[in-house]
Amino acid sequence: MSDLLSSSSSPSSLLSLPSQIEIKSNTSIIWVLTLFPEFFDAFLKYGVISRFLQQKNSPIEIKIIQIRNWAHNSYGSVDDYPFGGGAGLIMRFDVLSRALIEGVFVAGNYDLSSIFPSKIPEDEKNIFNLQSTSNSLLEEENKMQKEKLPLVIYTSPKGETFNSNCAKSLAKVLQGLEEPKKLERLEDKKRDIVFVAGRYEGVDERFIEMFVDREISIGDYVLSGGEIAILSMLDSVIRQIPGVLGNSGSIEEESFENNLLEAPQYTRPRKFLGKEVPEIYLSGNHAEIKKYRRNEAEKITQKLRPDIYDQYRNAKKE
Ligand code: SAM
Repeated sequence: MSDLLSSSSSPSSLLSLPSQIEIKSNTSIIWVLTLFPEFFDAFLKYGVISRFLQQKNSPIEIKIIQIRNWAHNSYGSVDDYPFGGGAGLIMRFDVLSRALIEGVFVAGNYDLSSIFPSKIPEDEKNIFNLQSTSNSLLEEENKMQKEKLPLVIYTSPKGETFNSNCAKSLAKVLQGLEEPKKLERLEDKKRDIVFVAGRYEGVDERFIEMFVDREISIGDYVLSGGEIAILSMLDSVIRQIPGVLGNSGSIEEESFENNLLEAPQYTRPRKFLGKEVPEIYLSGNHAEIKKYRRNEAEKITQKLRPDIYDQYRNAKKE
């Protein structure tokens, strides 16, 4: 059974949990709670984001946690029948709470003072193993300087719809630049994020009430699990972090920046199958090319996404 997968280790080398978690200071951690850690193998192995995460001093680290480690019985059960009847199975509150508190909050050396006793009474504290087993080299330092709890996101078709602005705001959270409205303000401090992937028919509502800060959907359709939704969000959020993409201009001119879609792009050959690259792109006149691109971006946005185009027009009027 997979236990922990970390972006700083090779994706296929699964470590055991939680005793081998190493927490570095100055690194924002994205935790993923899932029943299928293998979904994240390819993401952590290939592409520009994987390269960024694997560099020695990457400011972001991803830790993938197997929820089944906190199964409530020896068969590895994490789900149960819904009270009141109904189709399918629901992920259990006790299993998810333990996975979050022990697998993330304790293992990550976070400050639990906002949970005990305000959310969970002192006399129920012993349900959880609150002994930190982090073997961080910085453990002593961490003990004195516990991190604020991470932002907990549950992927759900019922949540707010993920979009470019949401990606930017989560990227800012990771950089300590912006605090989600619901939470108390922190001074210029990095903030970690936990993504919880649901499976079956979703999770017991009490888990959401007690621990989830934001429910986010990737669109108005139902997936069989949250992993694919998390992968989409991770990709989109991390590429907003400075240094991930070599050329910062790539983000500035991308679709959805300033409520416009990107203008059409071309590369070699100049002519193929009778179709040519628009002459202006070959002119070398950068001011004119810029104007042309803006014009094309406006046209394409109006045609394909009139909703966004309206926002663009309104913003232009202001
Ligand atoms: N019974 C749920 C409902 O009708 O709202 C759907 C559960 S779905 C089969 C299982 C899990 O997939 C959810 O708990 C959620 O984590 C994830 N999921 C499904 N659709 C999603 C979406 N559009 N965006 C994000 N996560 C989604």
